[in-house]
Amino acid sequence: MADYDYDLFVIGAGSGGVRASRVAAAHGAKVAVAEEYRVGGTCVIRGCVPKKLLVYGAHFAEDLADARRFGWNVPDCAFDWPTLRDNVLAEVSRIEGIYSQTLGNHGVEIVRERAAVSGPNEVTLASGRTVTAGVILIAVGATPMRPTFPGSEHGVTSNEVFLLDSLPKRVVIAGGGYIANEFAGIFHELGAAVTLVNRSDTILRGYDEQIRDRLLQISIAKGIQFRFNLTFEKVERQEDGSLLVHLTGCDPIPADLLLFATGRKPLTEGLGLETAGVVLDGNGAIKVDADNRSSVDSIYAVGDVTNRIQLTPVAIREGQAFADTVFGNKPHRVDYDCVPSAVFSHPPMAGVGLTEAQGKEKYGSVKVYTSDFRAMKNVLAGRNERALYKMVVHPETDVVLGIHMIGPESAEILQAAAVAVKAGLTKQAFDDTVALHPSMAEELVLLR
Ligand code: FAD
Repeated sequence: MADYDYDLFVIGAGSGGVRASRVAAAHGAKVAVAEEYRVGGTCVIRGCVPKKLLVYGAHFAEDLADARRFGWNVPDCAFDWPTLRDNVLAEVSRIEGIYSQTLGNHGVEIVRERAAVSGPNEVTLASGRTVTAGVILIAVGATPMRPTFPGSEHGVTSNEVFLLDSLPKRVVIAGGGYIANEFAGIFHELGAAVTLVNRSDTILRGYDEQIRDRLLQISIAKGIQFRFNLTFEKVERQEDGSLLVHLTGCDPIPADLLLFATGRKPLTEGLGLETAGVVLDGNGAIKVDADNRSSVDSIYAVGDVTNRIQLTPVAIREGQAFADTVFGNKPHRVDYDCVPSAVFSHPPMAGVGLTEAQGKEKYGSVKVYTSDFRAMKNVLAGRNERALYKMVVHPETDVVLGIHMIGPESAEILQAAAVAVKAGLTKQAFDDTVALHPSMAEELVLLR
């Protein structure tokens, strides 16, 4: 590798790229990473981190209301969007600084410009400079898909939503996935009238049906509007600056914000991959083998750009496995089985392993245990919102195949339970564990 400018050139300083760069450098490689926007990538700058902080901020609406039932004399409180927005953005900048510093401390050169592949071992930067590398890692992530119809330019995506000047009073959200439902919850809690429009007849396809139905019921009860089986016709900007959203077969919806949360596509366009001979799939994702290697020997890819599981911890693991395998002489692969995930809705839902439908498809039948309960805190708060925990168990071996839940703190609870599911524990092992009382999580060991 001595003939190249770098041993490794990484394109994209997001979750996967930062981990891969840092670890490869720690293994002794000469590494540079190009970043066209901000170090930290989607998760830190305009994804998981600012989103979760908005979720926390929004949830105070319920906490403040509930506090009165717990004896607190809470005066009427007003919410100030610029304060939350600016504090969140400041935190994002702080984390960005830490990421940049960590890369620097490991001797990784940060190239702050766009990069494209111009050969199996060559990268061309936006400035026109070319650099060579023994190995190129593509970690450019994915980008929100924007539907195109007349007036669709008036809508924003998750890239812009964290920067809004003011809090919209009426929000229309296109999409039914986790980002759509998370922002529906955020804007609703912050006092906006929210309408979620989906072209199919359900939300959160792929999640356990009973759990997602519970979120739908709770969301409707809270006042979020859902419109299913509809497509967008056009959006008109009104004289007062607001929007009129026209959907097929229903009255137009007035809105102050239209948010597209209609999926994310791998960011491979204009990256020079085809000319270098890198094979993409039908969605534009880079095809890689189990060691993250593309169809070109010297070019690897990790994270969302490979469209395997588009989650930060997965991108990080792929970056780590790549760097250890290629530069650390410690080959290992990512295990995609039992990757836990959450939807940070209000209340949140979380799951790991097979859903009931997936279990039935795989094993013909499964044993299902559920607990449908009202969290103690919600009871005293007079909040008629029920949690639902569900365990999917192998019909013969008693092994827990999946756990899915909706309720307060379910992401926190599920992460611990995911260890047990990943370890292949049986339902009996849960039954044998003494409950920690009083807690919500104790329901997991009391399922009968
Ligand atoms: P990214 O983090 O997207 O990083 C790619 C980087 O490459 C970016 O910084 C980009 O600017 C840069 N880049 C792109 N092209 C070029 C180029 N040609 N030259 C130079 N630089 C380039 N995941 C979770 O696990 N939990 C969550 O709660 C969660 N919430 C999310 C909420 C939202 C709103 C969104 C949008 C995503 C969320 N995700 C969440 C997904 C998570 O952010 C991604 O899975 C993760 O960031 C993928 O990491 P990556 O390294 O593949 O790409």
